[in-house]
Amino acid sequence: MIKCPFCNQIMEDETPEDSFTDLFRCGACQAQQAVYWEYGERLLTFEPEPEE
Ligand SMILES: [Zn+2]
Repeated sequence: MIKCPFCNQIMEDETPEDSFTDLFRCGACQAQQAVYWEYGERLLTFEPEPEE
């Protein structure tokens, strides 16, 4: 289980089927985390919320 490093909420698995990388998103702060299990690396990214 992956938890958001910012608000400690459980991140949802949003990994695309054809992806080599696991992608998780925090529903609370919209932080995204890509996890490269093979290399033991994690990459944090932010995607701005869509504006109306
Ligand atoms: Zn968060």
